[in-house]
Amino acid sequence: MLMHGKYNSILRSMFLAVVLAGLISCRPCSFSGGPSLELARDGRTDYAVVKPEKLTKVDEYAVSTLTNYLFQITGAVFPVVSSGEVSPTNKCIFIGLGAQALKALGNDPLAKLKDQEHVTRSIGQNIYLYGKGIHGNLHSVMEFLGSSLAWRWYSVYEKPVISSMPSVTLSPFNRKKGFSYVSREVATQWNSDFYYQNGMNMGSEKWGKDTNSRFVPYLRNDKFVHSSFSYIPPSPDTVYSHTFKWLERTNYFETNPNFFSMSPAGKRIANRQLCFGNPDLRKELSKNILKHLAVVPGNQIITLDAADTPDTFCYCPECKALEKKYGGSIGPIYDYLVELCGLLKEKHPGVYVKTLAYRRDQSQKPPVLPAGGKIPDNLIISFAPIEDCYFADWTHPDPKIQETYADLKAWNAITHAGNLWAWLYPNPWGTGIEMPVGNLKRNINQMRLMHQAGVRGIFTDHCGYVQRSGLSEIQSYLIYKLMQDVNCDTDAILVEFTDHRFGAAAPLARKYLAELEQGREAMTNLPPGVRFSSPNLDDQTFPYLTAENIYRWQTYYDSMEKETAGTPDELLNVRVLRRELDFATLWKWFELKKAYPDYFKDHMSYAGRITAVNNATAQAGMKHRPMGEGTLQDFLAVIQGGGQSRALPQEFAGIDQSLIKQYQPRNYGRSGRKTAVDPGAAFGYAATIDNPDMPFQFGFYQWEARNPPKGKQGPRLSLERKDIVPGEYRLYRLGTITVTPDSWIWFSAKSWGTHLELGNRLYEPGADNLWEAWVSLKFNGPSYGGTATNDQVLCDRIICVRKADK
Ligand SMILES: [Zn+2]
Repeated sequence: MLMHGKYNSILRSMFLAVVLAGLISCRPCSFSGGPSLELARDGRTDYAVVKPEKLTKVDEYAVSTLTNYLFQITGAVFPVVSSGEVSPTNKCIFIGLGAQALKALGNDPLAKLKDQEHVTRSIGQNIYLYGKGIHGNLHSVMEFLGSSLAWRWYSVYEKPVISSMPSVTLSPFNRKKGFSYVSREVATQWNSDFYYQNGMNMGSEKWGKDTNSRFVPYLRNDKFVHSSFSYIPPSPDTVYSHTFKWLERTNYFETNPNFFSMSPAGKRIANRQLCFGNPDLRKELSKNILKHLAVVPGNQIITLDAADTPDTFCYCPECKALEKKYGGSIGPIYDYLVELCGLLKEKHPGVYVKTLAYRRDQSQKPPVLPAGGKIPDNLIISFAPIEDCYFADWTHPDPKIQETYADLKAWNAITHAGNLWAWLYPNPWGTGIEMPVGNLKRNINQMRLMHQAGVRGIFTDHCGYVQRSGLSEIQSYLIYKLMQDVNCDTDAILVEFTDHRFGAAAPLARKYLAELEQGREAMTNLPPGVRFSSPNLDDQTFPYLTAENIYRWQTYYDSMEKETAGTPDELLNVRVLRRELDFATLWKWFELKKAYPDYFKDHMSYAGRITAVNNATAQAGMKHRPMGEGTLQDFLAVIQGGGQSRALPQEFAGIDQSLIKQYQPRNYGRSGRKTAVDPGAAFGYAATIDNPDMPFQFGFYQWEARNPPKGKQGPRLSLERKDIVPGEYRLYRLGTITVTPDSWIWFSAKSWGTHLELGNRLYEPGADNLWEAWVSLKFNGPSYGGTATNDQVLCDRIICVRKADK
């Protein structure tokens, strides 16, 4: 992990800056005087690290983290000693508050601290690192390394930044810091040290009494979100039936259909929500939750919230009465939550219930309580604004956006302090994963407005992070800093991060990011159909991706690549950031080629760069998940087809164009031609079908449904000779499909080598995902009555039409 060379000059200047800052901030305090502290000289030290007397797992981690980094920075071994081994002449770094530390600090220094606050200070020649709460001492250690020794860890895809400084002299210092957000949760990929050391606590601070349970104890929470069907699974073939191994039953819809929502037509339906107005359902649900607490000890929080399906909870008279009682659609589930919180308070004091405030027609709007009324104090509200358009933050005047922020503030008025948490969506889902979206300021604004509205816990639903999308690492780093101090100097952090990441290309990278952000901010009218996710790829959704902007930005990148040509890490970072722009370039290829024919010549060079970034190994050694492989193939197919596009067939006349999506499958088979250029094809190009059968079969398949029972595999068609007109494209209606994240349209029962990964392109979390699918096919060759010598089946397009929710 030791890094010499290029970082040293940057870090030296940073180091000097922090030393100076330390001097300035220390001037008013009473311990500012005295001599400086010589932490190391020429790779040797006089200091010892004094470990806490009662060593928790977190403290052990704090001690080893400190001594490891001190060794890497100075080259000196800092011995770890216990309090009893210290003589008055030793120079010490005290971790935590042992008897020796208390002698210097006075009685009960923690009494003056708020939860999670931590102190980093020197007194004379000694250093004291301590803090309040389960991770308090660790926070202090990390603060010391960051502020006094310029330690940084910018991204999980990189190694920590450590400057080699065999001699370190510190001015006296005394710093106290805390966290703006008490609960800090992110998805922890690759390396948990990165997240611990950047201050993530995964919600454990509030509840983490069992300090020895794990390495660094995380909040015990077996089911994170959308849990109601996990406690009451409708049937054994749903994903919910796999959540809890200890649950005895998985067939509730069979025996108790009244446990489940009633449709507007008065029918009980298995795949919507629970009927919380039903007293028998409540009894069974509470029984299963109590069982959960009994069989899996250590749960400090129980999640009970809606299934991830749209529309109000239930249309039965009891649920409708509860909507009326609480002045909104949240009524049925809220009434049950009050009951559950009362039960847990009595039987499991200290255990919390967490529930989603989610979707305007479900639970985003709080219940209307009598004046001054509060929700139970063991209820945590997890506010998840997925219906907000991802281009806007809460400073945007759009009425729907403002409505969401008003809902959050209304929750704050009735929620106990510290119990209002929120989801942050740093990156869009859907087509916005691959397109450039400048939203650093959006995240900053959201986090500040959340904090103003009383939010004290953050979970980042961070799409793009596993693919290492261009902005995801700077987004994450900014989020960690804002979690710590919501008023931190984000401009300075952005400069520091980009300087580190792009070296000489940093100024131009910042220019690109600023212009991209301006493009987003100029969107006064928000595009329709865009929530936290959107499947749309059109000029209305991405108005700033004009030919002019794409061209100008590509020229920025040409310069940035030149500026980083001698530094492979920085060049890769530039190309990672460029990847989304390369996707946008391929999307707009024909327009760009027409406007700038001298510049845009070979589309394959853009595709090649995307693929190279997708296959790159990160500095820290891991390989991220490739981004947009299917989308890339789609774009290449369109370009290969020459950009022609045939109008939709008659069947689609009069349908709102925004409800229609067109795709091409791809032949992944081992042999034969994958594609055919065909002037008769809708886009001048068609996919060949691998190993075609006769009768010709194709269909829809959800990989998530493990061994689905007969009749539930999704629609499939079998074409006989009479259904086929050889030599021309003909449209076949496959039927209604429910798109899931891992669902395909496949061709030929003998192969499936040709298929469309439809879920990748079309699935929207939390939506109904109901579509009508059509497939356009052309047959030739002896098996199909055609004149060609060999059998050939081509698919030139798959047309999907969105069906209305309900
Ligand atoms: Zn009901």
